[in-house]
Amino acid sequence: MPNVSSNDLPLSALKRGREVELVMEDFADRGKSLARLAATEDRRGYVVFVAGAVPGDRVRARVIKRKKGFAEARLLEVLEPSDLRVQPRCEYFESCGGCKWQHVEYPAQLAMKGEAAVSALARAGLDLGAADVRPPLGADPHDGSGGVYFYRNKMEFSFSAQRWLTDWEIASGEELDTSFALGLHVPGRFDKVLDLRACYLQSEWSERLVNGVRQWAKANGWRPWHAREHTGFLRILGVRTPAHTEDKMVNLVTSGWDEGRMAAFADFLRADFPEVTTLVNTVNDGPAQTSYGEAHVVFGPGTVRDKIGGYTYEIASNAFFQTNTVAAERLYAIAREMAHFKPTDVVYDLYCGAGTISLYVADAVQKVVGVELVEEAVENARASAVANGVTNCEFVAGDMLELFKPELIEAHGRPDVLILDPPRAGLHPKVTGQIAHLRPERIVYVSCNPQTQAMDLARLSEAAAYTVEAVQPVDMFPHTHHVESVVGLRLAE
Ligand code: SAH
Repeated sequence: MPNVSSNDLPLSALKRGREVELVMEDFADRGKSLARLAATEDRRGYVVFVAGAVPGDRVRARVIKRKKGFAEARLLEVLEPSDLRVQPRCEYFESCGGCKWQHVEYPAQLAMKGEAAVSALARAGLDLGAADVRPPLGADPHDGSGGVYFYRNKMEFSFSAQRWLTDWEIASGEELDTSFALGLHVPGRFDKVLDLRACYLQSEWSERLVNGVRQWAKANGWRPWHAREHTGFLRILGVRTPAHTEDKMVNLVTSGWDEGRMAAFADFLRADFPEVTTLVNTVNDGPAQTSYGEAHVVFGPGTVRDKIGGYTYEIASNAFFQTNTVAAERLYAIAREMAHFKPTDVVYDLYCGAGTISLYVADAVQKVVGVELVEEAVENARASAVANGVTNCEFVAGDMLELFKPELIEAHGRPDVLILDPPRAGLHPKVTGQIAHLRPERIVYVSCNPQTQAMDLARLSEAAAYTVEAVQPVDMFPHTHHVESVVGLRLAE
């Protein structure tokens, strides 16, 4: 029985290990939700975070962390469910790190994402007074590319010698082999992996592939990676299924190079999954469970193609490409519109990946200079420019921190417009400093992390006077807390 009930409970009730009853009020960061304790004069807005709970729920939860400004509690039971709750589609929901919000109705997910993107900017002190802050752009309610399920064109499933069993797997009473799993990680556990038989993020074909590869690998006695002992051969099964072509890539990440095994695996794919157009074997012998390493093309071109806005893009196994093709097209259209291009513009597309935005905007401007760290992505960008007949894009390979200096600007011209699309960590302060020094007239910042986007823009605004003209959150990842946000800025007169 809970010791204390309702949000009138005193702070002293929030001792570690105690059970409490809470009414959840709002969504919070990383897919959690929060309850506020009744405000007292000295403790306004003390909050308790509960993962898995939904605003509107009345829950029983156990306090697991107690800090000065907030506490965290583990959900034990939903006493009264919120109206926002829906039945999750996937049987692995709750155990799996892939989707955290399948139990929240889609309009509420979307509203929360819009709010998160905009409030991050406001909290960082940016003046949105003159900005066109638009409602979040959501996914198509139907399944399929751009929809709320099966929207991903790329997945990475982990192999593990430490399988995590769901409650219902344990309850089934079946004899289960816990020494082999192929699926997604349990949240917060680098070593534990669910043996997924179903997943609604990529495609039914991809699900069949995962199940087929698992069966074949087990039958052949191939060992999965053991994340603690650093033993085993199989590490990651990467699958790319572009939305607008029939190309399909399998990228098998292994701990070593084994020609004989790879030939056998290629034969298996050719026989059972003839739709695969290219097989890559990436060798990662390091401790971190990533798909970085030396890539060997086993068969096919080593790339797949996908289409955005009438352009066809070539994508290598280690090149970045937006994982939701249909949503990416909407994202790029917004970026293009917010840039207010003129035919004389010199545009820099920084963190350009496989040159997707560069090519997409090239016809509106004088020229585009793309900068990207991954060599193969730059090779893809150059090849795609040629294949699409685009002649006014130049691509430079290297680290932005090293490259984004006066020499680059001297070689390629002063930018009128910057398009920024950095990874989750955002911009290095030196890069922001260089932007402030260059003072391009227009900036479009596309971000997959509104927190770092807001910090970067606040830092930029301190150094140079920019006005935020428009903000558009876009949902590219339904059922996760991730949100993409496009911000358009103009140098103040
Ligand atoms: N605009 C592209 C890619 C965005 S993802 C698209 O829409 O597809 C961010 C890209 O930044 C990745 O391709 C990543 O390889 C690249 N990147 C990460 N760190 C970098 C750095 N320090 N310098 C240059 N590029 C970097």
